Amino acid sequence: MLQRWKTEAIEKCDVTVYTKIFLKFPDKFWPCGPGKEFFIYAHERRGYYTFWQHMENAYPGSNILVVTLTNGESKRIEAQSDEETLEEAMGVLRDMFGPHIPNATDILVPRWWNNRFQRGSYSNYPIISDNQDVHDIKAPVGRIFFTGEHTSERFSGYVHGGYLSGIDTSNSLLEEIRKEKERKSESQTFLLEPLLALTGSLTLTQTEAVPSLHKCDIPTQLYLSGKVGLQEAIL
Ligand SMILES: Cc1cc2nc3c(=O)[nH]c(=O)nc-3n(C[C@H](O)[C@H](O)[C@H](O)COP(=O)(O)OP(=O)(O)OC[C@H]3O[C@@H](n4cnc5c(N)ncnc54)[C@H](O)[C@@H]3O)c2cc1C
Repeated sequence: MLQRWKTEAIEKCDVTVYTKIFLKFPDKFWPCGPGKEFFIYAHERRGYYTFWQHMENAYPGSNILVVTLTNGESKRIEAQSDEETLEEAMGVLRDMFGPHIPNATDILVPRWWNNRFQRGSYSNYPIISDNQDVHDIKAPVGRIFFTGEHTSERFSGYVHGGYLSGIDTSNSLLEEIRKEKERKSESQTFLLEPLLALTGSLTLTQTEAVPSLHKCDIPTQLYLSGKVGLQEAIL
């Protein structure tokens, strides 16, 4: 079970929903060409099918439009059928381009909010969050390390936040492995001390004992060094 400071930090970090709905048409009726890719629809309801983009630059001839909805609107359309969403979107397009545009032949509505493995699209720290929250979110708990865009102080919510936090966490992990090795070697040296006392003439120094060797390697190392015989080494 995770400690309270960790669960509290996770609870504080909000997750936003960001939905790109794809609509496929038999032909194009929207403006294309240089400098024309996005168009905006203004509606009295905030965020109602506001941001539109055609796919002609990325996929020429695909006849696909994308409309982006966020959070409240995303959750609303996730709760309704794709047919209802298609009807709403077509209403908006007819408002902009006139009543004679063709119906979309296909629609894709991702459901990031209702996907139980996602529950949203990316992290969105509330305005009241401070550095401590991000610090606690990314702090390891024992041997469990945390990474991902939500652990990036500067770029949470973005791909490069995910990428950079991955590098950060890998470095922390490597550092922890290095420290662990050091700790082990110190405890090996400690184990070695009685053995050194027993073999009075032994001149093997602590550094010669090879810091990274495992416990079971110590007698072998002593034997191979030629400083003790097999009998002494396996004491
Ligand atoms: C619709 C949408 C649009 C976006 N647009 C942009 C944009 O334009 N620009 C931008 O910069 N960012 C955008 N983002 C955000 C960006 O996609 C994320 O910030 C980024 O993908 C986060 O990367 P990540 O590696 O932290 O997490 P993820 O990409 O979510 O990777 C986590 C991985 O872990 C796997 N996983 C989960 N649980 C387990 C488990 N138990 N065992 C094994 N594997 C597991 C998942 O399958 C997944 O592959 C968008 C996101 C969405 C949803």
